[in-house]
Formats: sequence, structure tokens, C-alpha cells
Amino acid sequence: MTLAELLPSVGACGEPPLEKHLWPASTRLLPQGDLEVGGQALTSLAGHFGTPLQLLDETEVRHRARAFRQALPEAEVVFAGKSLPCRSVFRWLADEELSLDVCSAGELAAARTAGIPAARILMHGNVKTDEDLEAALSYGVGRIVLDSFDEMDQLAGTAQPVLIRVTPGIDAHTHPAVTTGVDGQKFGFPLDTVPDAARQTAANGLRLVGLHCHLGSQITRVSVYEDAVRRLIGLGLPIEQLDLGGGFAAPYCVGDQPFDLTGFANRIRAALAHECTRQRIPLPRLVIEPGRAIVANAGVTLYRVIAVKPGFVAVDGGMSDNPRPALYGARYTARLVGRHTRAPRHAVTVVGRHCEAGDILAQDVPLPDDVHAGDLLAVPVTGAYHHALASNYNLVGRPPVVGVRDGVAQLLVRRETEEDLLRRDLIPA
Ligand SMILES: *Cc1c(COP(=O)(O)O)cnc(C)c1O
Repeated sequence: MTLAELLPSVGACGEPPLEKHLWPASTRLLPQGDLEVGGQALTSLAGHFGTPLQLLDETEVRHRARAFRQALPEAEVVFAGKSLPCRSVFRWLADEELSLDVCSAGELAAARTAGIPAARILMHGNVKTDEDLEAALSYGVGRIVLDSFDEMDQLAGTAQPVLIRVTPGIDAHTHPAVTTGVDGQKFGFPLDTVPDAARQTAANGLRLVGLHCHLGSQITRVSVYEDAVRRLIGLGLPIEQLDLGGGFAAPYCVGDQPFDLTGFANRIRAALAHECTRQRIPLPRLVIEPGRAIVANAGVTLYRVIAVKPGFVAVDGGMSDNPRPALYGARYTARLVGRHTRAPRHAVTVVGRHCEAGDILAQDVPLPDDVHAGDLLAVPVTGAYHHALASNYNLVGRPPVVGVRDGVAQLLVRRETEEDLLRRDLIPA
């Protein structure tokens, strides 16, 4: 459902209410139509750091990490580093006693140089190159999640603790690009091959500590996780750890519901106890790997309006800082920040600066009719898979990431410069 469908006031005057469940809890409406996040006015942040600008509310990230730990105190909570590979964020979450998962030597280098202890790192990936695995072994990561029989050969004789990634054959009914638990996609071992895979890990000298699955992303239904518990525990293998992956949904638009974390905790705890009793195996430690649910709603991106055409508002960013609408048809809202207006609002499409018709940032957004070049727009829910998926398309430098907390703003990742962009292009003589 879009904002335009939900708001009967579209076409009416005045400032829209703040969609509180989308923004960081610290967000406040200020006089003159400004907005404050983490104690900082968005207009002054845009003035100081320039646009486009990705903001991250540190308190919100920490608060959401704590919510997972409190809902499941007996579980290990692992942050999915790929959702926001930023060393400051890795440190905040290590502070909050989360573990970290990485999927490449590059992400591992970020974790290692941020000082994340090896024992708290898991390495994932449907392809792990020799370089990835050598980096993992030399740092001594706590667990590697095996994705294929070939990977067992790569690791043979290392005594590495491993989990087996299982494809449980469960459709979480999300976008096909992020549906990873069904049969017939590239991740993991099909359920019926898992007993053989378990025997072979032992034969290869690896130490099997548990089973893993990851069902997809933007999952709203707890029942798919219960189903995964039944199928994985139903294999009857005594394991130390059961890792159910991530995928907990974050709300992006007005009608979206937040994930029911308490319901998840209660139902998964019950399902796990019940299945283990049935299989007469000891209760494994539960592991979960939230990414988006921790960081998405802590992020806000600021854009400057550059041009307005009938039905379109064009800004100084686009698919290079947010490819998700083009990749998955992801939906966003946007709001005018920094001035009051009595102009009626009508639905427009916020587009980017790139040379593709699919370069859309937000569709059907009710912006005031007098929106003009120089206005500031704020897009909430940009903390996950924005910085991570950003590119240099059209040789546009990637935006900075600025952390805000208690009235202090800090540059966490600086803006990419022209020099950065040209550095690898060598022009041989
Ligand atoms: C991407 C991923 C996650 C995190 O997914 P979210 O939707 O961000 O929660 C967790 N585990 C694995 C293995 C992943 O690939």
C-alpha cells in the first residue's frame, strides 16, 4: 500500500504527520518544517556535510540490537555485516555483545581491523574463494558456514568448526532475488543430502557444530521460521547450534508492520523445545542473524532537489546510492524538510540523476506542489543495503555515512572524491 492510498489528506494542505514507526525514535519535528535526528537538525547536517548524505542514528542501532538480545537472552545474536559493512557499526554491535557474520575476505578485513574478536565471527557465502578461506583460517574465525561439498575439499584437514547450510525447501514469499530457502536456488545443501554432508565433514577432519539456514529477507511470518526448526531438527542430528539466519522484516512505508520479535521468540523457543523432545536430542543453542531489522530504520538519506518536471522530482543521488527500487521494486517514502508550505500535496515520483529510466528512489510520494530546486528531501529506512550496495555508476562518488548520537554528528565513512574514482584507472603508456 502506498502513502497516497493511506492518506485521505493527500491533495490537502499542511505538514504530514511523522510516520513514527519508520524513523529513528529520536526524530522530532522542529519549527520551520525542519526535522531533528539524534539531536541534530537535518538542514544543518545537509549544510555541513553536503548531499546526498546518509545518516545513521547510533542510539537506534544499539537499541534494536538490545531488543533482539532481550527477546532471546539464551540465543546468540549475530549481526549480518553485509547489510551495513561499516567498522564503527561493527564496533557498536560488538559493544552490545552481538557476534558478526561476514561473506568475503573484504568484509573480514573490515571486522579484523575494527578489532572484532575472531571467535565471534562467522563466515558465510555460497562461493568462498581460496583467498576468502585463507583469510578466515589465518584470522581464526570461530565458525565457517559450509555451502557445498567442494568447500569441504577446500577446508579438508583444518579441524575448522563448521555449520552446514541447509536449503530447507521453505518459501518465505518474499521477492525472488532475496528468497534463499527454496529448492532450486544456489545456496546450501538440500535437506536430503544433509546426513551425508554431516558424515563427510567428520571424514574431512572438520568439526561440525551445527546446522544453518537463511530463508530470505523481509520475512513477516513467524511460521516460516517454525517450519525451518521442524525440518532442521527433524533430521535428528545432535547439534550444538541451530542457526536460523536473518530476514526479519523492517517497515519501509506507512502500512508496513514491524516484525513481531516477542512473538518470534516465544514461538521459536516452543517449537525448538517440542521438536528436540520428539527427536530425543539435546536442545541446541539458538543463533539468529538479523541485518536489516537492526540497521534499516536507523538510517535516513538526505537529498537536494535539482529539478522538477510534471510528475517527477529529480534529486542529486539515485540508483548509485540506492539500487533497491531497481533491483527488487523496493518502495520508499520521502518528506520535504526545512520549510513550511501551505501548498496542496500530490503524488509524484522521486527520481535520481542516473542515465536509466529505472533510476527511481520513491514512487507515489505526496509532496507539496511548490517543491522546487534547492529543497531538501529526507528518505527514511536507508540504513540497510544502501551503503552496502552503493556503486560508482556514471562515476558519481558514493555519499558519506554520518553517525548521529545525543546531539553529536561524526563522519563514519567520508564522501568518495574524484581522486578515489580515478585511482584504479591507470592509462597504460
Ligand atoms: C543476508 C543474510 C542475513 C541477513 O539478512 P537480513 O534480511 O538483513 O536480516 C543473514 N544471514 C545470511 C546468511 C545472509 O545471507
